[in-house]
Amino acid sequence: MLIMKFGGSILEGAGDLQSIADYLKGALEEERIVAVISALKGVTDHLLKIGELAALGDELAVMKELQSLSEKHLSICEDLGLTCQAVRKELEKLEKIVIGITYIGEITPRLRDLIASMGENLSGSILSELLRKKGVKSRFLTGGEAGIVTDDSHGEANPLLKATRVYVRSRLLPLLEDTLPVVAGFSGLSQEGRVTTLGRGGSDLTAVLLGSSLGSREVWLWTNVDGLLTADPRIVKDARLIKQVSYREAIELAYFGAKRMHPRFLEPAMVTSTPVRIRNFRNMSSPGTLISSREVRSREVVKAVGLRRGVSIITVRGVGMIGRPGTAGRLFSLLGDNGLNVLMISQSISESDISIVLEAEEAERARGIMEARLLGPIFKEVLLDRGCSVVAAIGSGMRGTPGVASRIFGAVSAREINVKMIAQGSSEVNISFVVDETDGEEAVRALHDEFELGKEGEDL
Ligand code: ASP
Ligand code: MG
Repeated sequence: MLIMKFGGSILEGAGDLQSIADYLKGALEEERIVAVISALKGVTDHLLKIGELAALGDELAVMKELQSLSEKHLSICEDLGLTCQAVRKELEKLEKIVIGITYIGEITPRLRDLIASMGENLSGSILSELLRKKGVKSRFLTGGEAGIVTDDSHGEANPLLKATRVYVRSRLLPLLEDTLPVVAGFSGLSQEGRVTTLGRGGSDLTAVLLGSSLGSREVWLWTNVDGLLTADPRIVKDARLIKQVSYREAIELAYFGAKRMHPRFLEPAMVTSTPVRIRNFRNMSSPGTLISSREVRSREVVKAVGLRRGVSIITVRGVGMIGRPGTAGRLFSLLGDNGLNVLMISQSISESDISIVLEAEEAERARGIMEARLLGPIFKEVLLDRGCSVVAAIGSGMRGTPGVASRIFGAVSAREINVKMIAQGSSEVNISFVVDETDGEEAVRALHDEFELGKEGEDL
């Protein structure tokens, strides 16, 4: 059995749905399939915008946006020659909810989830009807109907793995005997029976949850890029596709990839060792990237190099910090309480300073807050270093291999690039360091060259 998830990037018009349905019909001759679908490209954003306009009470704007959303879906139905009863019903329901919000002038996280989840219901109903039209027995199910159970953290709900497994198996296994289920990605149902969403990009998580619950052979995430690359091809000309990575490596790589993915989706796959494959629907001859529990040693210990631009370093100093338990705790609680996300941390053994990396804008805010709330006898100084980039070397082969750090920093220094800060977790899958923004791209090229990532290799 295979789970196949179709992402929003490959869901633009009637032609896309047509090719997906044809492809599924063919693939079904080989084995059983569960299809998971995202909303049409841009639709989730559109729905969220409609919700916000409604909360502002802007009835005119709301009606205009609803109109264009309806037209987008109904014209696809028409092009495909479908009746789309289900789509019409869903659109009516959306309109009623949104008008209600317009009158009340307020939107709650629950309502926001209810609205946001509807994009997948629309695209999924279309695909399922299209499959039936092509003679495939198919049924559409929402995430909740398919058995995805979550907690009630609306907007970014956490799946309850045990319950989900039981429900998914009882709902889908009997259906799979003779039917191709089309499941709405992104949504679930809380234990109170409310519609929840799994966070942006959450359809990947839906697919993996179904795959690990059903014990599918693999989970395929169909998108519009070949997979994970050794580096950003706009920076490195000879960047290549990485054919296999471990879950750990994929989690490190996720942020830098061209396919927007939230590494959270890999957790349930890791628990059951379900392999996940990123595949390009527009380039089917490419094998894609396989993410699995297999630790594949590449010719080189480093498999990929990433770059994150637009960050700043904040350094907090004070001799009073030395040997005093709780200082780091105070610092990070303050940041956390103010919703500031820390990207990188480093403290030397002398304990007299702690450096952290934040996104540039957040760093400005963090500095203000730290100056107002932290400075005193223990924390003496807060320094801000703007205009930085983080370079990350990723690969599980680094673990226990001596000399990797020396090669990394040797390569960078050979190009006269100054390293401002370094962090490596003890898992040794990632060595990250900060350089001046102007040196970022060159540092990436230096590492890509040093580890010969552009060279074709069997094992990559
Ligand atoms: N449609 C949702 C989003 O845009 C979920 C997904 O596409 O994975 O975030
Ligand atoms: Mg998406």
